[in-house]
Amino acid sequence: MCYYFIMNGRSILVVEDEAKIAEIVKAYLEREGFRVSVAEDGEKALSVLKQGFDLIILDLMLPDITGEEICRTIREDSDIPIIMLTAKSDEEDRVKGLGIGADDYVVKPFSPRELVARVKALLRRAHGKRPYSFNNGDLIIDVSRFRVKKAGTEVTLTSTEFKLLKYLAEHPEQIFSRLQLVNIVLGYDFEGYDRTIDAHIKNIRHKIEDDPRNPSYIKTVYGVGYRFIGRPDED
Ligand code: CA
Repeated sequence: MCYYFIMNGRSILVVEDEAKIAEIVKAYLEREGFRVSVAEDGEKALSVLKQGFDLIILDLMLPDITGEEICRTIREDSDIPIIMLTAKSDEEDRVKGLGIGADDYVVKPFSPRELVARVKALLRRAHGKRPYSFNNGDLIIDVSRFRVKKAGTEVTLTSTEFKLLKYLAEHPEQIFSRLQLVNIVLGYDFEGYDRTIDAHIKNIRHKIEDDPRNPSYIKTVYGVGYRFIGRPDED
């Protein structure tokens, strides 16, 4: 079972004071069929918000109001998906907990392609609890039912494996260290536990990959960690 979720015509607000970055992001998103508006400062962003957007890409450092403040203001009456752009690792730390209300964040310098992938993933998530479908229906992750299908056949994952796969699939192309993944799926970060992630990944691969040594879904980034590389089926 495949599902199709139309990205075309969805409108995105890019709040970014660096004209060059705004321009590139706009071009990439438009090429994917999105309608894109740019606001170069916070005041402008807040004034155009009422036009109604499907998603906001918000730079943390703006000349007038900070991205954090804008985020908080938006969250007072809207749950619109927000991706935060951060430039420095200390900013990353501030956003990491996503306690300021953003749904996701991307660190500069970023690849526009990765940002587009994250936009799509976030829109898909926000769209509802429909199953995620990858590689022409080869892998289906049904988040609301905790079910996974590989090539039409249901596979059984442990709850940790499911959490891990779901998290990676929701953050396509993003590289996570083992320690980050331990923290995310197990909720603690003792150094010694990072290798347990390898065991979980190995199990997941045996269940969902045609060839676990040449994975189409969870790729090993040597010396760093893991990255989800499945192709979403929405287009
Ligand atoms: Ca900025």
